[in-house]
Amino acid sequence: MRIRNDGDPMICSTPIDAAVLADYWTAALAKPEEEAIEEHLFNCDQCGERLREVIALAEGVRNLAREGSLRMVVSDAFLKRAAEEGLRIREYAPPAGGGVQCTVTAEDDILIGRLAANLSGAKRVDLCICDELGVEQLRLPDIPVQSGASNVAYQESITFAKAMPTSKIIARLVTFDEAGGERLLGEYTFNHTRSLPGPGAW
Ligand SMILES: [Zn+2]
Repeated sequence: MRIRNDGDPMICSTPIDAAVLADYWTAALAKPEEEAIEEHLFNCDQCGERLREVIALAEGVRNLAREGSLRMVVSDAFLKRAAEEGLRIREYAPPAGGGVQCTVTAEDDILIGRLAANLSGAKRVDLCICDELGVEQLRLPDIPVQSGASNVAYQESITFAKAMPTSKIIARLVTFDEAGGERLLGEYTFNHTRSLPGPGAW
């Protein structure tokens, strides 16, 4: 690492692309390129810091793929990274008030329901997962919503989805008015057809 004479943070004029850093970390680069990156990292704290972020994210994605059973709202940055890591993402985007035919295969790693809604001004948004009659089974309270976002990416547990029989699941996004009353932002119907063999198959 370079010794700094002043206390100012060094600004890198040629930052290494995150995808290149990821390739460097997984030893996917050709020798000359790898040596050039190594040399750069030796002298550049800023890119070194970004390499640590890339590693942390990659490990996180691997852990998540291994777990494969989390129900959570994910960011587009996460999905982009997961795709770059080679994970297979299956995504369904039913319109608000509408439905979609969906399934999951043995090769899928991540299952996403993309729920479009007008989220502007919503201070708190809850995601409710309901059965085919609309009875709430699970609620993710106060989910993260990126400012300016027009949809929410819900990750269904891939383990759960792979074991699920043919069935209908209704998702709802709700917010709250000043008085605390619940207001529907959108309702989405997932008509799931099981395509994997096993105990839950028809
Ligand atoms: Zn740099």
